[in-house]
Amino acid sequence: MTTLDSYNFSGKKALVRVDFNVPLNDKFEITDDTRIRATIPTINKILSEGGSVILMSHLGRPKDGPTEKYSLKHLVNPLSLILGKTVKFADDCIGASATEMAAALQPGEVLLLENLRFYKEEEKGDEAFAEKLSKLGDVWVMDAFGTAHRAHASTAVIGKFFKDKVCGYVMQAELDNAERLLEHSERPFTAIMGGAKISDKILIIERLLDKVDNLIIGGGMSYTFTKALGGNIGKSLLEADKMDLTLELLEKAKQKGVNLVLPIDTVIADKFSNDANRQTVPTAEIPDDWEGLDIGPKSIELFKSIIAASKTVLWNGPMGVFEFPNFATGTNAIAESVVAATEENDAFSLIGGGDSASAVNNAGYGDRVSYVSTGGGALLEYMEGKVLPGVAALD
Ligand code: AMP
Repeated sequence: MTTLDSYNFSGKKALVRVDFNVPLNDKFEITDDTRIRATIPTINKILSEGGSVILMSHLGRPKDGPTEKYSLKHLVNPLSLILGKTVKFADDCIGASATEMAAALQPGEVLLLENLRFYKEEEKGDEAFAEKLSKLGDVWVMDAFGTAHRAHASTAVIGKFFKDKVCGYVMQAELDNAERLLEHSERPFTAIMGGAKISDKILIIERLLDKVDNLIIGGGMSYTFTKALGGNIGKSLLEADKMDLTLELLEKAKQKGVNLVLPIDTVIADKFSNDANRQTVPTAEIPDDWEGLDIGPKSIELFKSIIAASKTVLWNGPMGVFEFPNFATGTNAIAESVVAATEENDAFSLIGGGDSASAVNNAGYGDRVSYVSTGGGALLEYMEGKVLPGVAALD
């Protein structure tokens, strides 16, 4: 795989697939520009060598072609400010405007194309569409790790139309950190899995059983384990068809000598709301009309003691409904203890995308863990051992 550092961009037009799928508010202002900032080193490396940059991305999930809400034109000014240079904008990603503006681009200049998903061909991985995109640049740089698990036109299919294909810095960092975690981890290695559904995370949990010393399971998915073990979970989240599977996982953990840890107490609510009445009860003793929305203080202490002694920590998924401040205590406490393990025990800590990344970033801890992944689904699939189409396309 060609790395960014081993390629000379002098005089080249680099067609760079980035992940600019950022959240926008009602006024089309960016509310979290992490993904844009993450790609700046890649862009600057190309420009500093006398190359020019054509940026392509998706934004949101437009259903029927061009939609104001999902236009990448809203990113032009913020991107120009972050980059410190004027960014040009083509109001289409293929067609006359894109072709002419790309052709006229001078070394040191940056052009942003309109949303790729305004064409349904993008997500279908359409070859003719990918070929049209490919005509815009001399070299393809893939830096959109967050969509690398999709065989879309711009993330994978396009690769076959380029001789020169380069892995961007964001992609490289994601792959290097995942590799370090899975293949070169210092022990003890603790994985903390949370979030709503076991079914989404079953493959990664199974793979982790071969790698980790401790597997902490919290959040909504833990109640299916508790129920399968004979506990009362009231109205808490349950995947009834996964109960047998949880027992199998517990058995596998035992066979492999993995310490699989479930919450011992839970904060329950009488309705699914931030201002619900709250109580803390043992996890297996949730009354019928109540539901568990967070881990309790004893679980926090138990999890903290395990995390504090770890040298490698992977965290994916919140410990409760952290969107409700009254039920975010467990998730915040885990974020704090991952930071403490990193700073005080010199642990390598990787936060695996999605909601756990938001929880860590929102609490201002983004810089105090070893690495916060930008790709939720992509990271999970990579860690499951799957070949990501966007990575395969670079070979
Ligand atoms: P995931 O995308 O699978 O990582 O799940 C994240 C979501 O799980 C968040 O929106 C949380 O609100 C939700 N979640 C976590 N714990 C619970 C719980 N105990 N009950 C309901 N939802 C939960």
